[in-house]
Amino acid sequence: RPRVGVLALQGAFREHRARLEALGAEVTEVRLPGDLAGLSGLVLPGGESTTMARLMGEFGLWAPLRDFHAAGGHLWGTCAGAILLAREVQGAPPQFGHQDSLALLNVTVQRNAFGRQIDSFTTDLQVQGLDAPLPAVFIRAPAFARVGEGVTVLATHQGQVVAAQQGRVLATAFHPELTGDLRLHELFLNSLRRLETA
Ligand code: GLN
Repeated sequence: RPRVGVLALQGAFREHRARLEALGAEVTEVRLPGDLAGLSGLVLPGGESTTMARLMGEFGLWAPLRDFHAAGGHLWGTCAGAILLAREVQGAPPQFGHQDSLALLNVTVQRNAFGRQIDSFTTDLQVQGLDAPLPAVFIRAPAFARVGEGVTVLATHQGQVVAAQQGRVLATAFHPELTGDLRLHELFLNSLRRLETA
């Protein structure tokens, strides 16, 4: 049974938790560095990346999350979570100037690449590794404007990269936890199972 965490500072962490549990994973809500102990994977949910980044600072999570990755942990960021994983963030609110990120995925992410809240949409997305299209919910979604060395593009929409992977880091611009289609969660858990039996 894979042991997986969900970063539970803000955003859609309960939905991720429910999906992962439905697939048989043992799920821990991560708020403090100590919560990462014994986990093989961590999901960073959608929500508001600037808020999450601030809370990550307050809870002392930046270095522990990088250590978790360096120690072999798998990470999956969805929407705001994907922004947190990127090497570089574009479109931070002007009062921030620069937006901190974990820099574990060699991409430049553009926030709100598909427009504002009212421009949110659902589409069937062809994702590499899945045999049939995946229903994908985009809510003020980012896109990966620059994809650097070592990064594999897993899906595009309207010419923009919306899913990418680099080693143990997976990032999707959309919200797979808001549909009943659990194939991406399954894919993530399978990568952890391979890790645990290795
Ligand atoms: N636009 C949000 C951000 O930049 C992400 C939106 C989402 O996670 N649905 O944090």
